[in-house]
Amino acid sequence: MNKITNHLPTAELQAIDAAHHLHPFTTGDELTQKGARIIASAKGIYLKDSEGEEILDAMAGLWCVNIGYGRDELADVAARQMRELPYYNTFFQTSHVPAIALAQKLAELAPGDLNHVFYANGGSDANDTNIRMVRTYWAEKGQPEKKTIISRWNAYHGSTIGGTSLGGMKGMHEQGDLPIPGIEFIEQPNWWAEGGDMDPEDFGLARARELEEKILEIGEDKVAAFIAEPIQGAGGVIVAPDSYWPEIQRICDKYEILLIADEVICGFGRTGNWFGSQTLDIRPDIMTVAKGLSSGYAPIGASIVSDEVAKVLEACEFNHGYTYSGHPVACAVALENLRILEEEGILEHVQNVAAPHLAEKWKSLEDHPMVGEAKIVGLMASIALTPNKETRASFAADAGTVGYITRECCFGNNLIMRHVGDRMIISPPLVITPEEIDILIERARKSLDEAYEKVRDQGLF
Ligand code: PMP
Repeated sequence: MNKITNHLPTAELQAIDAAHHLHPFTTGDELTQKGARIIASAKGIYLKDSEGEEILDAMAGLWCVNIGYGRDELADVAARQMRELPYYNTFFQTSHVPAIALAQKLAELAPGDLNHVFYANGGSDANDTNIRMVRTYWAEKGQPEKKTIISRWNAYHGSTIGGTSLGGMKGMHEQGDLPIPGIEFIEQPNWWAEGGDMDPEDFGLARARELEEKILEIGEDKVAAFIAEPIQGAGGVIVAPDSYWPEIQRICDKYEILLIADEVICGFGRTGNWFGSQTLDIRPDIMTVAKGLSSGYAPIGASIVSDEVAKVLEACEFNHGYTYSGHPVACAVALENLRILEEEGILEHVQNVAAPHLAEKWKSLEDHPMVGEAKIVGLMASIALTPNKETRASFAADAGTVGYITRECCFGNNLIMRHVGDRMIISPPLVITPEEIDILIERARKSLDEAYEKVRDQGLF
């Protein structure tokens, strides 16, 4: 058998991949007919594939490589930590320096009194932790009936049984008989797709008030928590109208519902602040974090919880934890990543340089015939594709047809931009420069032009 290296021909790697590697969110046909794109290396905001093509990664991997690719400091820290203490657990009253230091740092960065960290391997299992944690919290407080968690349709909270259940992706629920009992949903604040003739702010308020209606329908003594992404990411970078979050906060406060902000995408500078909750003025009791915590260099996630939640949990034994909760190598890598974000002023770069420049250029795409709204907060952005900007109409094809065509044009132009239905989304590394943003926009515009032509040829416009 050939040793598998980057030097094997692409077709050979693709054939072996298709034969043996089951991919997430990919059909077998895509793999056998087209083959996987094989990424060989990366530096800064660029990937290099097995054909030597340089691809601008406007998604930062899966929204995670916040400091960009190829930072040796993280590799050095990981190697050092592996030599010193490659593994030890944090169960049964043990700890180690990387887990201690990272917890302290996260407590310092997190808003309010979110001073306590429960480690996970990523965002999905941190959300699983949250389900058990909020139910345990209320049970310990003598209210075991308070266990329903309210979420939103089109939310994404992960792929585990718990994460998928909390998420509002119907296509995911269909596979595996989900959600689990005790999860309820309200509609999302997606004005573009669902706002009809309403004014966006009225719509935002109406959608937030669905939370109150749902709490009253279930009974406030039965609701444990509400979970939401400050800005929906995988649902299409949906930015709620300004009226939405203050009303959600008011309702959670009024009915004593724990507010879980899923910051897996919004955290660590993505919106220009350390957390999306700060950008949107949300006061969560629990934050889910992952991705940008280590800039994707090591798998790690966490639930960061308030003094009050921690106090109740510490009074009992929370029978929960993962072998790799607080993995020393992942914690050390995350700490180094946070040091780089902080010492290199990357959040300031987002706020003062990259986000204003990208916002101006991104908004300019609205003059394209196929682009309806262009939305952006910090360095996460979306555009809605439409055949009619005034009526915000959908294309006369299955949702996602035009988005897919556009994504393929982007690939052809060495730009990674994702589509969610007929919304195109980006979330580039936070270190992106204004010059690189100009290249991103140039490629995006070229891809939109090519897609527009294809869409017209197919009679969809
Ligand atoms: N929550 C949100 C908001 C996410 O975007 C994601 C991943 N896209 C997750 C949870 C799940 O995280 P992971 O894939 O690390 O399990």
